[in-house]
Order: sequence, then structure tokens, then C-alpha cells
Amino acid sequence: MTNVERRLTRRDFLKVFGGGVAASFMGLSSPQMSSSGTSSASETYAMLYDNTKCIGCNACVVACRLWNGRLGGRFPFLLEDRIGPQEPPEEPKIDEHHFLVIVPHPELRHQDGRGVFQRRSCMHCVEPPCLYVCPTNAIYQYKGINLTDYDRCFGCQYCVIACPYKARVFYEGEGWGVPVKCWFCLDRLEQGLYPACVSVCPVGALDFGTRDEMVAKAYARCDELRAEGREAYVWGAGEEHGTNVIFVSDVPFEELGLPEPEMRVPAPEAYPKLFLERGGLATFGGAALIFLSFALWRRSRIIKAKVKEIPRG
Ligand code: SF4
Ligand code: SF4
Ligand code: SF4
Repeated sequence: MTNVERRLTRRDFLKVFGGGVAASFMGLSSPQMSSSGTSSASETYAMLYDNTKCIGCNACVVACRLWNGRLGGRFPFLLEDRIGPQEPPEEPKIDEHHFLVIVPHPELRHQDGRGVFQRRSCMHCVEPPCLYVCPTNAIYQYKGINLTDYDRCFGCQYCVIACPYKARVFYEGEGWGVPVKCWFCLDRLEQGLYPACVSVCPVGALDFGTRDEMVAKAYARCDELRAEGREAYVWGAGEEHGTNVIFVSDVPFEELGLPEPEMRVPAPEAYPKLFLERGGLATFGGAALIFLSFALWRRSRIIKAKVKEIPRG
């Protein structure tokens, strides 16, 4: 089986979706889980990214853009500009056309001397700050996947500001706009396929399965690295500050520019720092009412316009 054809096995699929597959998918159009929803690690999808294997080829970035920007897909506007869709972004920064970027770290070296790259995307936080700040309950979790109900979103962008990973970006069309980000290629999961990025990685730096499996694989990889005399670190595997994208690295995560612990909790005390960093204080200060009025006006336009064409997550 080639990487491109890589499929979730029936066993993988049933592990997360259980016997009532059809019923579960029908349920996707009406969110089954919200901020109060929980699912156990064995029922939760997770991705593993191992930067000690990544060669920075950007195949995953291109695959993400091509799959999610295709006509008939959920986000056809991703390729709206049609400029160099095969190219990764000039600056490796998540934007409205890239849900995923691979950031090179030329200042760092792996312990075997190779260059360092780091994936950045939505981390599908176990306790997502974006979900907590959404005033319309448009953000919800389904089997560990952080999704947005575009029928409920009115475009206030609080979630964009609250995301510690800067993974949510606002896509603005003509008279409408929505926050967009990685959604674990849920349409591919429904077909028994791996996410597009995972399918194309030529060196096995990406893996996908249940959270239990990915956590076990992350620690097993750490054992391998340590057996080689290398350091090894895991990101996101714990309950506190947990994420459903789990990283393995032989470089300390502080050196990779990942957010500090206090930024990763959906706690009110973290928000002033976030808003300050993102220039959001003005929005949440004197201009808040104007902003909210504008957001409500925008909402009516969004709902009447293009968002209706995008199926709910
Ligand atoms: S990484 Fe950001 S957008 Fe993704 S779940 Fe966490 S807070 Fe939300
Ligand atoms: S899981 Fe899908 S949407 Fe998320 S980064 Fe990979 S290809 Fe993109
Ligand atoms: S496809 Fe694999 S090796 Fe290439 S940049 Fe993405 S994660 Fe790294």
C-alpha cells in the first residue's frame, strides 16, 4: 500500500466511531458535544508528529491545501486566489490559505546534526481556549476534533484571539467571513482515509489513530531516541494542557516557540496576556460595543451569503 492510498483500517475506524457509524455521522450536522462534552482517550482521534523524522519537504502542507481547497470540499475558497496552490507559503505562518505550516528552525540542530522543522496547526486542544470564549457556542468537540458550526458563528473572532497556537485565522470573503483551521480532514475520516497531510508524509513523521495509541507511540519513540543517547520530549500527551496533536522532539519545546503553559488553559487570567499580544485590548475595551454591533451586522450577511454553502462540521 502506498502512502497516498493509506487508509484507516476498519479496526482503526470502529475504534473511534464504534458500531453506530452511520448514526454518528448523521449526528455531525448537529453537534453532539459542546464545552461540557468529553470523550475517553480510546474514543478520541489524535495525530502524532515526530520532528526527529521530519525532513521539511512540505508535502503535508501542499496536500492539506489541495484536499481542503478542492472544489466540492468544505473550504473551496482556500484556493480562491489560485496563485501557486502547489507552493507552501513564502513565510511559514498559518493563514487563511494554509491550515498547516512547517516552520524551519535554522538556528537549531537535531542531536544527529540534521536541521530542525516543526509542524504548526490547530492542536485540537483537550480543553480549547477558543471554545470557551465563543459567545454563540459555535465551537464544539467531536471525538477529539475541534470543529466550528458555521451556522452559529457570527464572525466576532474572539476564538482567533484566544487561540494560543495562532491556528485559527479569519477568512474574509466579499461581505462575509469565518474563522478557519485544521479539522482533521473529517470528510476523509468519514471515508476511512487518513488525513491528507498524514497520507503523504514520505518519512512517517506523521501518524494518526486513537489518542491512546498516539500517546503510546510517542513514549515508545522517546524510548528509542533515549536508547540512541538522544534527549526526547513529548508535547500534549498529559491531561493538563493536553492536545490531540502530540509532538515528539529531541529539541526542548521552549526552543521551538510553542506557547507557555499559562497561555494554553482556557482560564480568564490568561486572556489579558493574549489580548495584549494580539492587539485585542482595544477591541475589548472602548471599542467593544462598536465591534459587537459590527459583528452582528456581519452575521446577517454571513448567514445570507456564502456560509450557507458550507456544510456544518
Ligand atoms: S489550537 Fe487553537 S483553534 Fe485549535 S483547539 Fe486549541 S485553541 Fe482552538
Ligand atoms: S488534518 Fe487535514 S486539515 Fe488538518 S493539517 Fe492535516 S491535511 Fe490539513
Ligand atoms: S510531509 Fe512529513 S517530512 Fe515532509 S514536511 Fe510534512 S511532516 Fe515533514
